[in-house]
Amino acid sequence: MKKVVIATLGCKANQFDSALIEQSIPQSDLKVVPDDESADIYIINTCTVTRKTDYQSRQLIRRFQRKDPEALIIVTGCYAQVNPEEISRIPGVDYILGNREKEEIGQFLLQLQKRERPLIRVGSIAEEKRLHSPPISRFSQLSRAFLKIQDGCNRRCSFCIVPYARGPTRSLEPEQVLRQIERFSRAGYREVVLSGINIGSYGLELSPCFSLLDLLLNLEKQRPVQRIRLSSLNPDEISEEMINLLASSEILCPHLHISLQSGDDRILKRMGRNYTSESFSGLVRRIKSKIPEASIGVDVIVGFPGEVEENFQNTYKLLEILPVTYLHIFPFSKRPGTPAAQFSDQVNGLVIKERSQCLHELDRQKRRQFYQDFIGKSCLVLVERKRDSKSGLLRGYSRNYLPVLIRGGDELMSREIEVQISQVERERLYASLEMR
Ligand code: SF4
Repeated sequence: MKKVVIATLGCKANQFDSALIEQSIPQSDLKVVPDDESADIYIINTCTVTRKTDYQSRQLIRRFQRKDPEALIIVTGCYAQVNPEEISRIPGVDYILGNREKEEIGQFLLQLQKRERPLIRVGSIAEEKRLHSPPISRFSQLSRAFLKIQDGCNRRCSFCIVPYARGPTRSLEPEQVLRQIERFSRAGYREVVLSGINIGSYGLELSPCFSLLDLLLNLEKQRPVQRIRLSSLNPDEISEEMINLLASSEILCPHLHISLQSGDDRILKRMGRNYTSESFSGLVRRIKSKIPEASIGVDVIVGFPGEVEENFQNTYKLLEILPVTYLHIFPFSKRPGTPAAQFSDQVNGLVIKERSQCLHELDRQKRRQFYQDFIGKSCLVLVERKRDSKSGLLRGYSRNYLPVLIRGGDELMSREIEVQISQVERERLYASLEMR
């Protein structure tokens, strides 16, 4: 029985793709093992969203190659899609497959051999029309299942390489989404995270059009699983109806992760983002007025070309005054092939570092404030299948994305339980079971 390692970098959509690869591998001849074990075949599903993820992808390839020099090395994913030549220069790589080609790995795995020179199979993804997603029932060790309901993106934000790696937007049929969530629920998953590259454009290309809101209304009616969480959305994709649905829903988690990217209107314009700091501010206030306990996470890029101190201060102040919960901070990363990579007024790396540190400190303050607000309050926590490695306590997330630690037995794992938050210590929330 040959051993296979599948290593994944990047977003939930890419992790879902890896789960599909794992499921397509003939389990009668091949055994998928964790990446700390030795293996005969390594599949590296790469990410190219930043220069750092390219570097991490290369590091993984080299680490596996050093660990098992005779093993077959197959590289796929977004880095392979946009820059196969660069990967082909890494010694020991046998196959480089594009994002469409990765769907066929399982089929051909047993016939693949070590090669003198890597074989590159990367087709153009720009013509992709359909989202191919066979039924799946296992999602590795996680307690929550990610479901890729959409792939690709038709937007062209000036800093983003993703559309060149993932192609145009394409969506899973609503019926397939429902069936797949039911399958996850039968497999014991209590929460499904709706993922994709730009889920806000879900269903717009379907005929008839069936938007993300239509999908959520349908899922609310069908209730196929206990909890549904949304992955990130652009500000202009969150409508009043969607906020109202989240406010009244039995299954949709009151948690929104919003891709703001900058809080300065001049920079937003240069990024090709079609909203303003004022419209974002209004959106956050409307969400919090309808759903006071909602968690609002924000993606922000620091050091976009042309960002002077005043622009950065506009972003900082906006996030400081708004009731957002946490920040994901991305230092600007020049992506070859994007317009922003050609902009002449690139920001100095040290300045980017300083600004990033400022925002990380603000992120800590925001999280702490949000967590403090829940001391003494009850919430529903989905207990994960693995205990917290540091404390040995049970761990899980509330519906509004509070990371909670609880004292209790393994029988509580994979169950949603009611707890009362008792204290916050070093950005960790401790809770006790609500006695009924
Ligand atoms: S919406 Fe913009 S940032 Fe997001 S994937 Fe599309 S092009 Fe990239």
